[in-house]
Amino acid sequence: MPPVAAAQSHDVAVVGGGAIGLACAWRAAGRGLRTVVLDSGDLGAWHVAAGMLAPVAEAEFGERALLELGLRSAQAYEAFCAELAEVSDRDPELRRTGTLVVARDGDEAEALERLIAFRRSLGLAVERLRPSQARRAEPALAPTVRLALDVAGDHSIDPRRLVAALAEAVERSGAELRPRTRVAGLRVEGERVTGAELEDGSFVAAGAVVVAAGVHAASLTGLSGELRVPIRPVKGQVLRLRDPRGEHPHPPLVSRTIRGEQAYLVPRGDGRYVLGATMEERGWDTAPTAGGVHELIRDMSEIVPGVLELEIEEIEAGLRPATPDNLPAIGRGAVEGLVWAAGHHRNGILLTPVTAELVAGALAGEPLPEWAAAADPRRFARARAAA
Ligand SMILES: Cc1cc2nc3c(=O)[nH]c(=O)nc-3n(C[C@H](O)[C@H](O)[C@H](O)COP(=O)(O)OP(=O)(O)OC[C@H]3O[C@@H](n4cnc5c(N)ncnc54)[C@H](O)[C@@H]3O)c2cc1C
Repeated sequence: MPPVAAAQSHDVAVVGGGAIGLACAWRAAGRGLRTVVLDSGDLGAWHVAAGMLAPVAEAEFGERALLELGLRSAQAYEAFCAELAEVSDRDPELRRTGTLVVARDGDEAEALERLIAFRRSLGLAVERLRPSQARRAEPALAPTVRLALDVAGDHSIDPRRLVAALAEAVERSGAELRPRTRVAGLRVEGERVTGAELEDGSFVAAGAVVVAAGVHAASLTGLSGELRVPIRPVKGQVLRLRDPRGEHPHPPLVSRTIRGEQAYLVPRGDGRYVLGATMEERGWDTAPTAGGVHELIRDMSEIVPGVLELEIEEIEAGLRPATPDNLPAIGRGAVEGLVWAAGHHRNGILLTPVTAELVAGALAGEPLPEWAAAADPRRFARARAAA
């Protein structure tokens, strides 16, 4: 989309200042577009997310398109963080420590064998570890662990640091960041989106609006049913834990991300860990529960018993923005001036760099590349029309 006439104050308004919205704004501003980010100030899913960048460990049967997006984004992450650190003077601290996927018992080992074969069939870089090899790599693993998969290329980042760096980069790139600004909906005139209606009754005119409001993206007013991307909340509970030995305990409990079938433990490198996460279809409920916390601690302590020695710093629940096919909606919508960057479900932190590039391309009028075509937001409108 070309820059708009001078009467309009912005070329692009981005609704939502989470990792996705901020990264899109940063890239849009980098292409010379006059950009404003409108953020309600609520803590989005980014505040809860563990920050695993794990396309290989998370690869599921039947999710090839998502895997492709994830691999491309993971590959872009290092350069993205280096550039971000330079522009913002804030290091988002990408941790290149890899991931171990661990099986606790015979059934899980069988399932893990199938996952290993699946990953190998796709040519993904993974190494099968016997229990003794796994414990050499991570001595805190329980002696009962049956099998492990070493995914050396799946890393992690602290999403709170990432968002702080992105916010700084957005401002330094000349874009405007409006905090405590809640968007009620989009204004559609004729066959195009002309801007964002704010909850206080005011209007922000823009040549294009990028919808990056996470789980709230589908609730914005102004878009009729067939123009919307269907997004539902999927609740996830996590605990933030810290080592009582302090910031740099030697040795650390674990160095790599440890993933079991039901729980994961992500080290931050400063004696802190994120233990997550439940997957619950409970609508808009974000209350942490005793049952959720119990399950996470029980499951992880069977893999890393030392987790029981850690202190609890935070218990939090967030909502993953999920679409019916688990793929995000990235790119131009069904009317002129509408661009989606939403529905990233459990992978939004991983997919931040690639989403920002694709959205900047869409704003410049570029079509989605073939490898990202499955994320086209218009697939939902097409499916409805076909039905
Ligand atoms: C428990 C849990 C663990 C996760 N772990 C991982 C992980 O390890 N790796 C990974 O890649 N992903 C993970 N995710 C997923 C990831 O957090 C999301 O996919 C990602 O945060 C989506 O980014 P977003 O910017 O679209 O939405 P959000 O992070 O939710 O941000 C949306 C922003 O929009 C703002 N907003 C909302 N409505 C409005 C409005 N009307 N007007 C203005 N602003 C508005 C909010 O204030 C918020 O700042 C996890 C999620 C959860 C819940």
